[in-house]
Amino acid sequence: MKIGRFVQALLPEIIEYCEQKSHNEFGRLCDADYSKRNFNLNFPFLVPIISIPSDLSKRYWTQVYMVRGQTVRACSQWFEKDAAYFVKYLKRIGVDYDLFKLESELLESRTKPLHELSATPARANSRYRGNAIGNAQNLLVRNILSNLGTEQFSEEDWQATKSYFNHQCAYCGRSKELVIEHAIPINKVYLGEHRLGNLVPSCRECNSAKASKDFRDFLEGHDEKIAAIEAYMEEKNYVPLENNEQVSRILEMAYREVGTVLSDI
Ligand SMILES: [Zn+2]
Repeated sequence: MKIGRFVQALLPEIIEYCEQKSHNEFGRLCDADYSKRNFNLNFPFLVPIISIPSDLSKRYWTQVYMVRGQTVRACSQWFEKDAAYFVKYLKRIGVDYDLFKLESELLESRTKPLHELSATPARANSRYRGNAIGNAQNLLVRNILSNLGTEQFSEEDWQATKSYFNHQCAYCGRSKELVIEHAIPINKVYLGEHRLGNLVPSCRECNSAKASKDFRDFLEGHDEKIAAIEAYMEEKNYVPLENNEQVSRILEMAYREVGTVLSDI
């Protein structure tokens, strides 16, 4: 497998690592020295799209990713001889991969008709160029919603949130490894935001089972758990945007606009 393809196939895992496991890794991946040391890249591995100088644009893949409220692109300037750097990095951050599976997914993405690609689950979509437009639309919505709150969700907030929930999953109550979960999903239907009050600790199982459901739908029948999350939101003054028709309309418009612009390219 070509190094570029390999990096692209594993980018979603690296981004998940930045989102869920390390608060500092995203900043480091945007740093030129860190990227040189860890990947032998001559440019920062990730760069927020708002700060890409136009002369560097061609050194970054066009696919965009959402990391910690920012829309980024990844450096495409990889050399085959440097694959070992990337493999070593994956090992260090604990990303497992199955080269055979990656190869076959890649092959499938080339042979499958487009309509089948868009029916694949959201997480897998990021690996396929075929659904880049849908991705860009959802990313834009996520980006707008993430930036609506002026507050940033800091490492300190995350520690406080976990301790508020007694270091247990807000959904099933188990004490397991916890990841950051948006109780109200960040999308144009539910209008959740990435800020204090809407972020709750969740175990990985609940996090993936809940997917893009609202926490009240996911917890249907568990009224106490719903009430606990609602009480937490209230304590943190988090007022959900869900009934805000104006915001919904703006997002819907932006969503359609991106679709139109990208289909013309
Ligand atoms: Zn759980």
